[in-house]
Amino acid sequence: MNKKRIRALLLIDLQNDFVDGGALAVPQGREVIAVANRLMKQFDFVIATLDSHPSDHKSFASQHPGVKLYETFELDGLPQTAWPEHCIQGTFGAALVDELDQSGIHFRVYKGTDRFIDSYSGFYDNGHRKSTGLTRLLRDLQVDEVFVMGLATDYCVLYSALDSVREGFQTTVITDGCRGVGIHADDIPKAWNRMSENGIALVISGQVE
Ligand SMILES: [Zn+2]
Repeated sequence: MNKKRIRALLLIDLQNDFVDGGALAVPQGREVIAVANRLMKQFDFVIATLDSHPSDHKSFASQHPGVKLYETFELDGLPQTAWPEHCIQGTFGAALVDELDQSGIHFRVYKGTDRFIDSYSGFYDNGHRKSTGLTRLLRDLQVDEVFVMGLATDYCVLYSALDSVREGFQTTVITDGCRGVGIHADDIPKAWNRMSENGIALVISGQVE
């Protein structure tokens, strides 16, 4: 008899600052909330990641006089995009979007809490120096397959999905459950390509059984 495969849904950064009206609104970001609400019941575990910064986080352009918003600069040896202040711990912007069915979420994983390093992935900071504990959690739950959706395609979804495969989980990204920032015109198509090239399956939510 085949063992039932255990599946987790990762909801990436479905927070107020990333939808319209937020400090770092992803175009059409709010549209993915309905997809998340619909899909949750189809998974054994639902895990939400939350970007969670101290108010003086070094990814903020405001911390670097002379650095312009959305410009790339070097932070502790890593290329860093200069973001507007967003997802500051304890603020409305850092909270999950109201329309999201939070009763369906089993675990929350916080990232970007260290002032000196950014964390796009829900698994590790951008330098792969510290784990958030997500790999441990998924292994403890005996998860075989990880499905990823959320905000934004070209940052936190991309890096979370890449880390998920690297950690050995069969990984699928739900494309209509994602929206991208697209600072450069080709950032979003490039992100999809990078996922495919790394063995990540891309499906639409209607294909998830
Ligand atoms: Zn952030």
